[in-house]
Amino acid sequence: MSQYTIGIDLGGTTMTAGLVDETYHIVAKLTWATRLPRPADDLERALADLCRAVAKEGKIDFSQVAYVGIGTPGSVNFTTGFVGYNTNFGYYDWNLGPDMEQLLGCKVYVENDANAAAFGEYLAGGAKGYRDAVIVTLGTGIGSGIILGGKILRGFNFAAGEMGHTVIVKDGRPCNCGRRGCWERYASARALSEDTKEAMKQNPDTLMWKIAGDLDHVNAKTAFDAMAAGDACGKQVVETWMEYVACGVANVVNTFQPEVICIGGGVSNQGEVLLAPVREYVERETHNITTGRNPVIAACVLRNDAGVIGAAALADSI
Ligand SMILES: [Zn+2]
Repeated sequence: MSQYTIGIDLGGTTMTAGLVDETYHIVAKLTWATRLPRPADDLERALADLCRAVAKEGKIDFSQVAYVGIGTPGSVNFTTGFVGYNTNFGYYDWNLGPDMEQLLGCKVYVENDANAAAFGEYLAGGAKGYRDAVIVTLGTGIGSGIILGGKILRGFNFAAGEMGHTVIVKDGRPCNCGRRGCWERYASARALSEDTKEAMKQNPDTLMWKIAGDLDHVNAKTAFDAMAAGDACGKQVVETWMEYVACGVANVVNTFQPEVICIGGGVSNQGEVLLAPVREYVERETHNITTGRNPVIAACVLRNDAGVIGAAALADSI
């Protein structure tokens, strides 16, 4: 008989639960609105209902579910299931894991959402089949997860793998985390949008005005589209941004030498336009004299399913 687990990707807007089989396939999936703000115990009951609903959707009895894994924003103590700090939800000292175990009557693992998504990509996505992997997601910030020998690198405070908050420009742009010059302030999708807007303000003739319409409609695609259409200003913005992306990726390689680095987030849809220059830069700035092989640099493939699959497999991540 197959073994099933349930993985939950808990976000500020939606929460998705997937019933996952032992080959990491999603058998059934449901997405509900998170409906914040709401009290923590109310959200916990909704999460428990969601788990039972997705088991039913997959036509299995909930008693057949081996365990539930939850990926949530915030700082998570993986050992206790305690979420210390979650600004998105406004909860402090959230006893999520133990509370859910009470409600569901089964083992519940809780992990940071970036680590859970990285683990999913490692097991079933772009990093499948490699031993050591780093997953980097370029979004509002830069999320990352480091998997070494099949295990998530957590560190003794469960806060390891925050590559987005490694400094690449000393005394650079201020970051939410309190430091200045963090990688995510230069190489996230949001940073690309901000750089695009700055360039547009200084260049009234750039094609980016035509592409975006106005500053409010600028996104991480605007400069790429302009570059593809031959716009010099767009090309400049993209190239500068890609150098920052590559600089951080080279730091990852020099620190961990993973066999594969997968880059995710909407901007990874640019494919080789992004990946090829990053590879070239990284090969120039890293060391491979013992094997002559370079780490594979590829795009993530699972998109939103990565968080669900990774959460559903958390027992394997220890
Ligand atoms: Zn930072």
